Amino acid sequence: MIELKDKNVLVVGLGKSGLSAARFLKNRGAYPIITDQAPENKLAGIVRDVNQIGIPTQLGGHKVETFLSSDLIILSPGVPHTIEPVHIANKKGIPVWGEIELASKFISEPIIAVTGTNGKTTTTTLIGEMLKSSGFNVFVGGNIGNPLIEYADSGQEADIVVAEVSSFQLDTTDTFKPKVSVLLNIAEDHLDRYDDFDVYALSKAKIFQNQFESDFAVLNSNDHLVMSITKHIRANKLFFNADKDIEAGAVINCDTVYLKINKDKKLKIDLSYCNLKGRHNYENIAAASLATLSVGGNIDGIIAAVKNFTGLPHRLEYVATIDDVQYFDDSKATNIGAVIRALETFKNPLILIMGGRDKGGDYSLLNELIKKHARLLVLTGEAADKIENVLGDIVQTIRTDSLDEAVLTASKAANPGDAVLLSPACSSFDMFENYHMRGEAFCHAVKKLKQGDQKL
Ligand code: ADP
Repeated sequence: MIELKDKNVLVVGLGKSGLSAARFLKNRGAYPIITDQAPENKLAGIVRDVNQIGIPTQLGGHKVETFLSSDLIILSPGVPHTIEPVHIANKKGIPVWGEIELASKFISEPIIAVTGTNGKTTTTTLIGEMLKSSGFNVFVGGNIGNPLIEYADSGQEADIVVAEVSSFQLDTTDTFKPKVSVLLNIAEDHLDRYDDFDVYALSKAKIFQNQFESDFAVLNSNDHLVMSITKHIRANKLFFNADKDIEAGAVINCDTVYLKINKDKKLKIDLSYCNLKGRHNYENIAAASLATLSVGGNIDGIIAAVKNFTGLPHRLEYVATIDDVQYFDDSKATNIGAVIRALETFKNPLILIMGGRDKGGDYSLLNELIKKHARLLVLTGEAADKIENVLGDIVQTIRTDSLDEAVLTASKAANPGDAVLLSPACSSFDMFENYHMRGEAFCHAVKKLKQGDQKL
């Protein structure tokens, strides 16, 4: 195990994960300092917590000399590893790790790690539930909920750790070695942060780089990029979306998933009772089931978890039916890939609300599905111009100045039997603190319609 005592460690990024990492380092006798670009007044609540623990901070910008005088640098998930001071420190040979790399050095339990452009949180949560119903003691964290470092710091002893891992977090791993790595899909996303799509796609492959032949890789065989970057990995491959006669993997056929983890056993999950909508969620269930079985979970536990799982907020979440029009909140659909899967899910005519802060994706990928499913496109936020330029000739389009106005406009245009879907394809940061606040604002606007007090 790595020795941290008396080491000067710089933690970059003061969020939940940065604070947890600094606390962990201090508990192990290191001297952490936390730096953040944001000034103190933007970080007020969390600065109080840091001060209470007695960890020094450098806020409102980064000092290169502090980076250079550190023995180790820990990056929070929100901080790009490409920033100048990190680059300079790296050139001088100072190790730079992400919080996941740090945590995994202190975790000896098997880790199931889940990555992909979309479906990470849903699949990670499902694996946690499937393992719990199979009788395991599980810690679920990483990019959702509690940072992995909190588990390492807590002295808890789970049987298995399930971690959601973003591509940003994988960028700053080196020795991270999951027992099971799940790669759900790779679609365009975060092109505002990566030089190009290939660099983004390759960052996902780091989840397999330290695995052995005795480990498992759960892979989407319908995704040509997933297939191409995993051609030469060492781990045992288990495919979901597999062909019927596969030796090991999951076959999705209408409302049934067939699972085969070794040659002599074929298991079956009936999804007709499942609360999750859409083929993409069947893929998440199939991937989660394979991961669960590969560490010793059982089919009864899997089936119980699927039956009880009602989905997560802001992911194709049903909100209400008003005047025979259904409203759905998919605020977490912050890229085009997620909107594609949402559009594929609906049979009824759609009024689609899109917009927010553009992330550099290609909206024309939505052309065919919008033609097929959407009657009206209601746009809002910074990206409205760009989206209208690409999709405005395909479907009738209305521009609005706020999400409240977008909901009201959609409701006035909707016919009985239609669905109104917020699936923005953009981040929320132009108008909201995060996707959660945007989703809550959408639900609130829909509830106001119900009460009949919505005004422009
Ligand atoms: P992530 O954690 O990767 O952002 P979530 O489970 O939070 O994934 O879902 C984010 C968005 O992606 C939601 O709009 C959801 O409906 C959609 N989604 C979920 N699973 C998939 C999948 N397997 N493929 C494509 N989109 C998906």
